Amino acid sequence: MKIGVLALQGDFAEHQTTLQNLGIETIQVRLPGDLDGLNGLIIPGGESTTIGKLAVAYTLIDPLREFAKNHAIWGTCAGAIFLSKDAHRKQPLLEVMDIIVERNAFGRQVDSFEIDLDIPVLKTVDPEGKPYHAVFIRAPLIQEVHPPAEILSRLPESSLKGGGRIVAARQGHLLATSFHPELTDDDRFHRYFLELAK
Ligand code: GLN
Repeated sequence: MKIGVLALQGDFAEHQTTLQNLGIETIQVRLPGDLDGLNGLIIPGGESTTIGKLAVAYTLIDPLREFAKNHAIWGTCAGAIFLSKDAHRKQPLLEVMDIIVERNAFGRQVDSFEIDLDIPVLKTVDPEGKPYHAVFIRAPLIQEVHPPAEILSRLPESSLKGGGRIVAARQGHLLATSFHPELTDDDRFHRYFLELAK
């Protein structure tokens, strides 16, 4: 099993650390040839406009779309935006997931927050099903999820950030999370992704 981490901008090193701690071989992906032989790819958080522009400059857009057809890809935060069909702005997107996102939906950097989420699919890697502590940093919201994409998690009803709003989605082997599992020491989401990449 070998997983690439798109290393154009953002917190790719943190994803690599989590994967390495799970005993997974990882490489940094910057050029189309780097995708050869990978079982899956993680697109990190950062700034989606920058990631998109650099992906265009490095001629990665078409190779990534091709890769997405039969490999697992997981986008966290800016990475989720990059996977989406529409972000209400003109910026390069892969458009491989049937989701529409709203960037910076919770406000500015100072409005970043942490919250416990219920993510039922994580029971496949840990039956205990304890709440998932999620970190949101200038996060996007997943506004619309259209089949074949499906909702994996919403903010709890009691949340002042807007109960019921969608923060994680899946479409086959493609995953999008508004939050940053690579910034916590809970590796359940990474393990769930590795199951999809198998
Ligand atoms: N605000 C960033 C964007 O819109 C995403 C922030 C993040 O990845 N933490 O691209």
